Amino acid sequence: MEFKTLGTTGVQIPVLGLGTWGIGGLMNSNSENDEMGIKAIRLGLDLGMRFIDTAEMYGRGHSEEVVAEAVNDQRDSVFLATKVSAEHLAYDDVLRSCEASLRRLRTKYLDLYQIHWPNSRIPLSETMKALEQLANEGKVRHIGVSNFSVRQITEAQEALSKTRVVSNQVEYSLTERSIERDMIPFSEKEKITIIAYSPLARGQISRQAYRDRWNVLHEVAAITHKTQSQVALNWLLLKPTVVAIPKTSNLDHVRENSGSVGWSLSTEQKERLDEAFRYR
Ligand code: NAP
Repeated sequence: MEFKTLGTTGVQIPVLGLGTWGIGGLMNSNSENDEMGIKAIRLGLDLGMRFIDTAEMYGRGHSEEVVAEAVNDQRDSVFLATKVSAEHLAYDDVLRSCEASLRRLRTKYLDLYQIHWPNSRIPLSETMKALEQLANEGKVRHIGVSNFSVRQITEAQEALSKTRVVSNQVEYSLTERSIERDMIPFSEKEKITIIAYSPLARGQISRQAYRDRWNVLHEVAAITHKTQSQVALNWLLLKPTVVAIPKTSNLDHVRENSGSVGWSLSTEQKERLDEAFRYR
């Protein structure tokens, strides 16, 4: 596995993590789904993807329980990230949500606690004060946000007295590049980690027929002897502040995704992809 520094913390995190939306089922959990999710997470951990992203809203908390079962006695060697939902951003609600996530994840601390989405009805300063309180108590090691704009991150940072916002989790893939306009330059200047969600365009990357711009991805995959998903993830990770959290419950896909690191696209290959999937 390869690692990048989380924000300005000096903490090293794997560049590939494990997304968990839908792990253990979305609404109706059943033991077969849980078992599949647990196996996929354990294999991912074995292959070095020792960074798991979940959220209190995934499966109404059930994904966190599945993650806890998969991690079990490996807790201290896994970087565990979860999120507080947008409707729980009032001070007391943040504290309550955190306690519930700690309980479901069966842990005393979260490595990264993220605001899932901004909520304009609740003052951001109130939410940040609650997150800082959790950091002071040692329940949260690092504070992050998700789906925040540059302006919102700046506002969040201003409300913190001792800690920093270390990451922003946002959609980023070959087909969704809008964060390149201002978020990527901001993250590089301010040293904020970008956690790329839906990095395989929700599975679209591997499903596309070979035509138009997808031909370029197909050709680069053939030249590099990698799969399209591996090329798409490797392309994302070329950006210095970006790490990615593909989701899969399929063991072959876990192995495939872990093979996205340990090699690098050439400058020419990167530029061909940049051009074919240009942000318009
Ligand atoms: P994604 O990771 O881009 O794609 C997941 C889909 O791709 C699944 O259908 C998966 O199916 C398939 N897949 C995975 N690896 C594959 C491979 N090697 N070959 C072919 N298909 C493959 O999309 P995502 O789940 O939306 O995003 C990833 C994670 O980001 C989520 O799980 C969640 O943790 C996070 N997320 C966060 C937010 C937010 O608002 N912060 C929003 C969306 C997602 P199989 O399971 O069958 O492999």
